[in-house]
Amino acid sequence: MDPIESNFDGFLDILSEKLKKDAVVDQISKNSTFEERAFKILVSTSLSARTKDETTAKVSKNLFRVIQNPEDLLNIPINELEKLVYPAGFYKTKSKNLKELGKILVEKYNSKIPNSIDELVKLPGVGRKTANLVMTLAFSEDAICVDTHVHRITNRLNYVDTKNPNETEMALRKKLPKKYWKQINNSLVIFGQDICGFVPKCSSCFPEIKKICPYYSSILEILKIYEKYNFKKVSKTKIPRERGTYVLRIKINNSKNILVGKKEIQFEKGDYFYIGSAMGNSLNLYNRINRHLSDEKKKRWHIDYLLEFGNIKEIYVTDGSFECSVSKDFEAILKGIFGFGCSDCKCKSHLYFLKP
Ligand code: SF4
Repeated sequence: MDPIESNFDGFLDILSEKLKKDAVVDQISKNSTFEERAFKILVSTSLSARTKDETTAKVSKNLFRVIQNPEDLLNIPINELEKLVYPAGFYKTKSKNLKELGKILVEKYNSKIPNSIDELVKLPGVGRKTANLVMTLAFSEDAICVDTHVHRITNRLNYVDTKNPNETEMALRKKLPKKYWKQINNSLVIFGQDICGFVPKCSSCFPEIKKICPYYSSILEILKIYEKYNFKKVSKTKIPRERGTYVLRIKINNSKNILVGKKEIQFEKGDYFYIGSAMGNSLNLYNRINRHLSDEKKKRWHIDYLLEFGNIKEIYVTDGSFECSVSKDFEAILKGIFGFGCSDCKCKSHLYFLKP
């Protein structure tokens, strides 16, 4: 069993012990009456979509000086509301949704915030993330708010294996003990913002977490391979004109089905490690890797199809012919991508995937 699978509760306990900070929407609504608090959490979370926390906090604070309840939302002129919402981005859509929200809350719910996920998600601009957050923070109900941080970190740590936040919520509902439901969002949002971000700052992570993190352990194993074969990291402008073996780290930012030759392959968002070599008399690392880097190339190898959508983020090179041995070492750590094998050495693949 993956260490995290048996110890995810422990991981959340460490975070709640070490990161004592309330979510922005929670802070904003402190010292409000019960009704006001539910309303403020609903409005702030709707405003927070694709907006930085500091901006959400600032915009919400200014907005709540003018708007205290659904009637205020219903009555405020749209141009005045737009001015207040403007710094949060997408202000036209967000303002329109808020006006509509005020109207529905007044007319259909007697100015009360509905106390059910099914009812909340019917409101304009309210998705499952917002609905779950309102349920946990405003009504103290057991619900799991899955935003980008919760989705990324629970997948990165192999606790779930899902494609989007809704799937993550459903997977967590099945396996996460209830006592962590309310806490997980706050803990992982703070942890995601400060340490385990889109690009994780593993060197700043807590030692107890590093010990059980499968992502970190994969990265350490990859570094051991680089050391074993004497690989050196090079920049795109300093590729040696020598024969040798190379590893490309390629980032795919969005999951995609890509036609590779005649076969469609689904590539998940994440990092791919491609192992190749340039050992011919007229072929050197410089020529071969620059061909991978070129936008103009004709598609000749399978990797060319992937490179149309991915970015080469790191290049490692070493002299010597180690392509297949390096691939076999990668195979022991990461999942190989079917269809990228090598007929000479019978390797299953020369392309390996690391979850983001
Ligand atoms: S070690 Fe790195 S990947 Fe693992 S939890 Fe910490 S920051 Fe995230």
